[in-house]
Amino acid sequence: MTATDRNVLVTLRFFDNESMAILRDAGCTVTIHEPPPGANDGAFSPAELKEMLAGKQGWIVGHAWVTREVLESAPQLAVVARRGVGYERVDAVAAKELGKVVTIAAGGNAPSVADQAIGLMIGIGRRFREQHERMAAGDWTILVGTELYRSTVGLIGFGRIARQLARRLKGFETEILAYSPRLDAATAAEYGVRPVDLPSLLRESDYVSVHAPLNASTRHLVDPQALSSMKKTAILVNTSRGGLVDETALLAALRAGAIAGAALDVFEGEIDPAMRAVAQELLKLPNFIGQPHSGASTSEALGRSNVLAARSIAAVLTGTPPVADCVIVDGRAPASVSEHQGRETTCHS
Ligand code: NAD
Repeated sequence: MTATDRNVLVTLRFFDNESMAILRDAGCTVTIHEPPPGANDGAFSPAELKEMLAGKQGWIVGHAWVTREVLESAPQLAVVARRGVGYERVDAVAAKELGKVVTIAAGGNAPSVADQAIGLMIGIGRRFREQHERMAAGDWTILVGTELYRSTVGLIGFGRIARQLARRLKGFETEILAYSPRLDAATAAEYGVRPVDLPSLLRESDYVSVHAPLNASTRHLVDPQALSSMKKTAILVNTSRGGLVDETALLAALRAGAIAGAALDVFEGEIDPAMRAVAQELLKLPNFIGQPHSGASTSEALGRSNVLAARSIAAVLTGTPPVADCVIVDGRAPASVSEHQGRETTCHS
């Protein structure tokens, strides 16, 4: 590949000078198409993406749908780098078959999401929103909350973010339970967590925090039955992906007092507009906090993730190996596309 065929498309806001420099030093020409205000690049239509990708060898992407149709329209495209870690919107099978490399920004935003999960646990436990709203209405009555300190916290999924979170939770002297496929005893011991099955985690935890990927097997992992098996005093936090929690069931559980409260950074309504109505009902509840998928939106996490994405693009286009943990599909190599999804990974930052 020569310097003349290193054209890179960026469909993101908050791409920065440091990452631009990495691409330019690798001989890349960069074109930025920012999404419209209030939207992310998931708002771009396949036709718009195809037009933007014409003549591009690299693509740094946020939440756009990387479909077979879009990939087939760009035979010269060698590498797609997600500035994030979930890749349920990427057709990995098509990318593999079409010989593309797909990377994620592994670990780039894990510290920020772990910080956010702690904030949401305490925010609900200490009833920040209820007290703020009452004070704004002139009522300075004190409400009694619950501590995170020395509570039992159950982590569903024990990858990069959950491991960062476990480190923080140690400072609160919590007992940490973890449910995650292939979580080995040595890793559990290293992080001081107790591996358990999902029913035990749901039954025993004061706080349940979800950190698994969205796929066919995790969809509605937290369903009506799961919610009904939780303590009435328990708090549910989901900072992973909308779809892992059945939000219709969550709304019913909160209205019935089946659990004490919940906080979501990610919603089913991000993909299914019909589910926005359920989100709006959740947002009215005093014991619920919603965030607009902002877990990774700190200047630090954006900076690290921009750099990881730029390095992946630069590596592939200059023929050097990208960071192994970031590669989820390598259509140039014989490895299977499902390998990454199946293995436990380690923290980057
Ligand atoms: P990761 O791949 O490092 O960890 C995911 C963990 O989930 C792995 O340990 C995996 O074995 C486990 N897992 C897989 N299937 C499971 C199942 N059925 N039940 C329980 N655990 C299962 O990913 P990560 O970087 O820690 O990210 C975790 C989640 O957070 C992903 O869904 C990602 O998309 C999401 N995320 C959200 C934000 C945000 O802005 N809110 C930012 C980054 C990541």
